[in-house]
Amino acid sequence: ETIGANLARTAAAHGDREALVDLPSGRRWSYRELLAEVDVVARGLLALGVRTGDRVGIWSPNCPEWVLLQYATARLGAILVSINPGYRTHELEYVLRQSGARTVVAMPAHKSSDYAGMLAEARPNCPELREVLLIGEDSWAGVLTAGQQADPAELAAITAGLSPDDPINIQYTSGTTGFPKGATLSHRNILNNGYFVAELCGYTEQDRICVPVPFYHCFGMVMGNLAATSHGACVVIPAPAFDPAATLAAVAAERCTSLYGVPTMFIALLNDPSFDRHELGSLRTGIMAGSPCPAEVMRQVIEKMNMREVSICYGMTETSPVSTQTRTDDAFEQRIRTVGRVGPHLEVKVVDPVTGATVPRGSAGELCTRGYSVMLGYWEEPAKTAEAVDAEGWMHTGDLAVMDQDGFLAITGRIKDMVIRGGENIYPREIEEFLLTHPDVLDAQVVGVPDEKYGEELMAWIRLRPGAPELTAEALRTFCTGRLAHYKIPRYVHLVEAFPMTVTGKVRKVEMREESVRLLG
Ligand code: ATP
Ligand code: MG
Repeated sequence: ETIGANLARTAAAHGDREALVDLPSGRRWSYRELLAEVDVVARGLLALGVRTGDRVGIWSPNCPEWVLLQYATARLGAILVSINPGYRTHELEYVLRQSGARTVVAMPAHKSSDYAGMLAEARPNCPELREVLLIGEDSWAGVLTAGQQADPAELAAITAGLSPDDPINIQYTSGTTGFPKGATLSHRNILNNGYFVAELCGYTEQDRICVPVPFYHCFGMVMGNLAATSHGACVVIPAPAFDPAATLAAVAAERCTSLYGVPTMFIALLNDPSFDRHELGSLRTGIMAGSPCPAEVMRQVIEKMNMREVSICYGMTETSPVSTQTRTDDAFEQRIRTVGRVGPHLEVKVVDPVTGATVPRGSAGELCTRGYSVMLGYWEEPAKTAEAVDAEGWMHTGDLAVMDQDGFLAITGRIKDMVIRGGENIYPREIEEFLLTHPDVLDAQVVGVPDEKYGEELMAWIRLRPGAPELTAEALRTFCTGRLAHYKIPRYVHLVEAFPMTVTGKVRKVEMREESVRLLG
C-alpha cells in the first residue's frame, strides 16, 4: 500500500475522528477534513507543474502545513525533502542542490530564523529550484488552496498509479559523524515502520499522540504522523519547537495518551516549574529514542508522568528509522539497559567489524539490520550506499551493540568513536559513565588522540559542576586508579563549558577529536 492510499483508507474508516490538532493556532482536522485539504494542496502542486518523482523541500518547524504537505506529496508521488529547521544558508544550499529540489515550502520566519531571507540568498545558486512557497502568506494560501487546481480525476489517477517501492522521502542524517547523507526512503520503508511502531505501542483510533519532536526527522514524521494515520489515531502539535511548558499543557488539555521525546526532553519536562500544575493522568505510553535513558529519569517518567508502557526505540535515518523497540511488557531493567528486541519482519545480527562473522551473544560487535526498513539508498551517492548496505541487503549501522541470550540489544557506542590503545579496544561510553560518578563532574566525553607509543591515547573532555574546583589530569587519574583498568584511564583532561553539538542535540565527537589534536600539537 502507498501512503496516499493508506490515508484514504483511514479517512474512510475513521472520517469523523480527529486526525490533527495544532495548539498554537487552535486549528483541528478530522480525517475526512485532512484528506480533503491534502488533496487541495496536491492539486495545487500539480497545477504548478510538480510531478511524480520531483523533489519538494519542506523547511519549517512543526506546523500543520508540514503534515499537509507530507501527505500531499505522498498522494502525488513527489519526493518530500525534509530540511532541518536548524540549518543555515550553507547547509540549505547543500541539500537543495544535492536533492535537486524544484519546489520549497517554508515558514517565512520563526524566532531568530529568517527562512525567507536565507532562501532568497541561496536561490541564485540552486538552478533547479523553481518555486518557493511561504506558509501563511498568499503564495501558500493563494497558489495551493485558492489558486489554480488540477482536476481531481487527474490526481486520483496519479495516486492510483503509484507503487509502494517508489521513493517518497529524502531524509538527511544528523551529521554526527560527518556531512549529512540523504537517505532515500520509499512508501514501503516508512509506512511499514510507522505501522509497526504503532502496533508495538498498542495504538488504536482512541489514541492521542503529543509530538514535540521535529517532523523533519523520522521520529516526528514516521513514528508520529505515519504511526497515527495508519491506526486512525490523532497527532497533537504542542508548539513549533520543543517547549516544556507548552508540551505539558498540551498533554493535559488534549488528554493525550502518548508522548514522544529524547531523554533530555523528558528531563526538561520533569524539571519544568509548571510540572505539578498539569494533570497527566491521561498518559499511558510514549517513545523515548535517540540516546540511552538514565534509570532515574525512566523511573520518574513511569511514576510521575504515568507513562507505564513507555517504549525505547533504536534506529537510524537509513532504516526508516526504527529497528529495535521495547514492548509494553518488557521489564524496567530492559528499558534502561537495552533498546529492546528486533521489530516485526526485520532481522538483526551483531558482527565482528573486521571479519564480518557473527559474534557470540554477550560480545560487542557492529549491529547490522535487514528487511523492509532498509533505505533505497543515499540520494545520488551509489558509492556511499554500497559502503553502508552490503550485497545481501544488510545495513551496517556503524553502531556497536551487544545482544543477550533473550535477543535484547544494548548499544555500546559507535565504531568511529572506538579507541584502540596498545591493541586494546576501548569503548568511550564505559569510561564516560565512570567519570560521571566523580562528584565534581557534570558531563564527560572521551575521545582518542594519536600517540606515537600506543597508537592512541584517551582525552577526557569534562564539564565541571558550577562552583567545583579546577580538576587536573593528575587528580582525575588518581580518581580512576584502582577502579578502571590502567589502559582505560584518560591521559589528558580538557575542561570545557560545553561540547560541540549537532542540531539534533548529539555530541560531535569528530569535532572534539580534531580540537584535541590541535590542543596537543
Ligand atoms: P550521521 O549518520 O550523519 O553521522 P546520525 O547517525 O547521528 O548522524 P541519525 O540517523 O539521526 O543520524 O541517528 C542515528 C544514530 O543515533 C544511530 O546510529 C545511533 O548511533 C543513535 N541512536 C539512535 N537511537 C538510539 C538509542 N535508543 N540509544 C542509543 N543510541 C541511539
Ligand atoms: Mg548515522
